[in-house]
Amino acid sequence: MEQKRRGVRLVLFPCPLQGHINPMLQLASILYSKGFSITIIHTRFNSPNSSNFPHFTFIPIPDGISDLDPNSISLAHLSLLNINCVVPLRDCLLRLLSNHNITTSSAEAEPIPCLISDAIMHFTQGVADSLNLPRLALRTSSVESFLSFAAFSVSWQKNCLPDSQLETPVTELPPLIVKDLPMINTFTLDCMYQLLGSMVDQAKASSGLIWNSFDDLEQSALATLSQQFPIPVFTIGPFHKLFSASSSSLLTQDHSCIAWLDTQPPKSVIYVSYGSLVSIDEAEFVEMAWGLANSNCPFLWVVRSGMFHDSERVGPLWPDGFLETIKGKGCIVEWAPQQDVLAHPAVGGFWTHNGWNSTLESICEGVPMLCLPCFGDQSMNARLVSHVWMVGLQLENKSERGQIERSIRRLMVEKEGEEMRERVASLKEKAEVCVNKGGSSCKSLEDLMARILSF
Ligand code: UDP
Repeated sequence: MEQKRRGVRLVLFPCPLQGHINPMLQLASILYSKGFSITIIHTRFNSPNSSNFPHFTFIPIPDGISDLDPNSISLAHLSLLNINCVVPLRDCLLRLLSNHNITTSSAEAEPIPCLISDAIMHFTQGVADSLNLPRLALRTSSVESFLSFAAFSVSWQKNCLPDSQLETPVTELPPLIVKDLPMINTFTLDCMYQLLGSMVDQAKASSGLIWNSFDDLEQSALATLSQQFPIPVFTIGPFHKLFSASSSSLLTQDHSCIAWLDTQPPKSVIYVSYGSLVSIDEAEFVEMAWGLANSNCPFLWVVRSGMFHDSERVGPLWPDGFLETIKGKGCIVEWAPQQDVLAHPAVGGFWTHNGWNSTLESICEGVPMLCLPCFGDQSMNARLVSHVWMVGLQLENKSERGQIERSIRRLMVEKEGEEMRERVASLKEKAEVCVNKGGSSCKSLEDLMARILSF
């Protein structure tokens, strides 16, 4: 551990969603390991478990949505947080900054050079500006999807969104096709435009953009980014490989599935998880269940109790005969230790919604993917997986059990899947090189620290 920068305190503010909290706390752990002291300001809604990070200082602020069921969070709530948290965050930062000015000893005397906040919490730029505090933005998804959000915002302003065929290539954004764009399949266009447009504008106004990605993975998107966003860019991912942080999981991870994986042959198991937010309807659930059972591949399935459209429902209603059929072949948990699962030798494929963390975690363990993206950036991530890196195949939305069964077998037992496994193994190696000494992510981390200390 480097001690020389202890005495400089970094203040971080995550967006309170699982897929955003994880990378922010991983980044905090990386910076702590480099000698910075860490304060996390966070909403009461989905507040992180501070006991897993005893070396950090946690400060909750009011958010106006703390009573919300985490399964009901929507884009509108994220927009609300961008309004409700303005005053509480400003007051909190002001207190921290003035404590620094009046105290001569203790942790409070540590200078605070900047704020590091999630890009989607775009209001933080205005708050930081009002306090003359530089802000670095952390974007927790792919560079590619950020560029398409930026283009989306421009298209919207020009009123020229594509309304044509879903399969048409978007010429400005290869390799995307129209149906990958974020405005498709959403009923809250205004809200989405406001949120994404502000995220992009305020990221542009920031003092630097931090990415949980790595140079070799997104070379061409990074080149475009540097043309469109003339601000410093720090590509220091995959964060969890640079520093394996303590768990920032909001739900309790069920470790019993690791013992079950220990009983399965190498690369035989398909791991199935749609992350922390996606919900599905009854019909999809039944098709998934029988597709998995009929594939004859062993599977580990994460079924969150809140993953059903019907919010009254607690937990799954298993189709008749399903649990008997899968005895010994399937393991079902409510929430898994995903990084350990993907690293387990028995896991040979990942059926995922392509949230960015899941996508990166799969690449880092050399696990090919079956992609079923649902909303937001997921379609763009899935397109990269299936058509650019070619380490996965896409499943059509509303697939029926026969299609699911065939796709699983293509991934898990056929030559096509074997080729994807070889390609993803090579991406895994590239990720390892990036985070090793002298690698691009390590160098970028040095640049980030220099930037922080220059403020
Ligand atoms: N995750 C987990 N256990 C699970 C499923 C997911 O710990 O059973 C973690 C996963 O490792 C990842 C995060 O939750 O870090 C999900 O983030 P992602 O960006 O993939 O999806 P989101 O939940 O934001 O849709």
